[in-house]
Amino acid sequence: MIAAAQALIRSLAERGLAGSRVLEAMAAIPRERFVPDPLQAHAWEDIALPIGQGQTISQPAVVAQMTEALAVGDRMKVLEIGTGSGYQTAILAKLARRVYTIERHQPLLKGAEAMLASLRIANVTAKFGDGGLGWPEQAPFDRVMVTAAADGDVPATLLAQVKDGGILVVPVAHSPVDQRLYRLTRHGDHFDREELGPVRFVPLVTGQAGPEVPRARSLG
Ligand code: SAH
Repeated sequence: MIAAAQALIRSLAERGLAGSRVLEAMAAIPRERFVPDPLQAHAWEDIALPIGQGQTISQPAVVAQMTEALAVGDRMKVLEIGTGSGYQTAILAKLARRVYTIERHQPLLKGAEAMLASLRIANVTAKFGDGGLGWPEQAPFDRVMVTAAADGDVPATLLAQVKDGGILVVPVAHSPVDQRLYRLTRHGDHFDREELGPVRFVPLVTGQAGPEVPRARSLG
């Protein structure tokens, strides 16, 4: 592992953001492969980076925190909304039996699929579409992770696809300047809701993205 990667993983451990199983999965995935070439030098800094289409690869500290909160077991079936670069997908794939992931930007999806294949990660099924609808044909899921901020509340469609006893981790935007991460645990028809702290994600957008490609925005 490169020195910068080691230093970052050590700092995530020291900050108590995740346990050894999650940190080992993060150490096993080369983040530098998921960031655009001009940003290589920054791949192991604890920051989000632009990946095109106005989207970002999440900050490692947030990846650690969200993955830890999801408590993924090696027999589990996981749904991820917002494939993006595929970085979080790769980490989930190390921990779970199978990962289903949905992305609404076709170029990002293609790039992520190619990268996962080149890393020989074979337990991922990816599709283009609106993740807000979930993946009804594959539901229910043991775990669901949303890596874009839901507006105001968690889509009921996604809640319905969580197995009894299952967990969903999702950032919710209460206002443009107030996003918080939640862990929801299903008990029958009821969900226990825990707040895990402030976060900053790109929005969960309804519908698939059209062929028009928005210009990359500055880092949010
Ligand atoms: N987990 C990603 C983070 C990407 S940012 C990574 O590690 O790189 C969030 C992603 O969610 C973006 O790629 C964005 O296009 C996607 N997204 C937003 N709304 C979506 C929706 N409704 N369905 C599927 N993907 C969505």
